[in-house]
Amino acid sequence: MSAKGLESQKGSEAVRVVVRCRPLNAKEKNDGRKRIVDMDVDAGQVKVSNPKGDDHEPPKTFTFDQVYDWNCSQTEIFDVTARPIVDSCMEGYNGTIFAYGQTGTGKSHTMEGKEEPPELRGIIPNTFDYIFSRIGRESSKEYLVRASYLEIYNEDIRDLLSKNPNTKLEMKENADKGVYIKDLMQFVVKSREEITSVLEVGRKNRSVGATQMNQDSSRSHSIFTITIEVTEKLDAAAAAQAASSGT
Ligand code: ADP
Ligand code: MG
Repeated sequence: MSAKGLESQKGSEAVRVVVRCRPLNAKEKNDGRKRIVDMDVDAGQVKVSNPKGDDHEPPKTFTFDQVYDWNCSQTEIFDVTARPIVDSCMEGYNGTIFAYGQTGTGKSHTMEGKEEPPELRGIIPNTFDYIFSRIGRESSKEYLVRASYLEIYNEDIRDLLSKNPNTKLEMKENADKGVYIKDLMQFVVKSREEITSVLEVGRKNRSVGATQMNQDSSRSHSIFTITIEVTEKLDAAAAAQAASSGT
């Protein structure tokens, strides 16, 4: 991110590392597992204790830009962590939200969640809502929104929106575009519904379904990219003036 990009983040770091800890699931509870992680939300710290250690062994403490515990809602994560990034994208900066973690730790829950009820929607659908509601409120600007969706599976890149999603694509680099994927499809989307159906189409083409949590799913990575172009609309009077002054 450029120096200007840094400023737009209002003094915060260009890269922020945030940890979310999910609750124990039913199976873990049935197995009699014990939680060994404590999240200090105010201090941004994760404390991991050794269940086999003696009582005097202090927990290992790790500090991050922000941490969320099992009580945190999807809305809170979006508002606090994702929305500032989407805001700076709408101002013209590049932004990435990258979810990393072992299978079953809650990446899909955090990024996608469930469509219904709305409070279970993750960062991606909340971003769709937010982008199109901001666009709807700005009458002086014209927006063009495009979406692409790719998967990296076993080191191969596939276009999840292509009619032939099994075709392997190549990663290229040049001075203008930086790193890009040759022949990756991009669809123009005009509403939340349209961009949601793009996500749905791509999801169906992923190599491993969300329900199959096994060794294979950890080899599947996906990147959903939203490109937003903005132009200032001239109002009628300004346009007439621009025309008459020959500019
Ligand atoms: P990943 O994508 O990292 O493999 P998932 O997002 O599929 O993991 O999460 C595994 C399971 O745990 C899913 O059933 C999901 O609904 C559940 N889960 C994950 N995070 C949470 C959370 N914060 N609260 C409740 N359930 C969660
Ligand atoms: Mg997942």
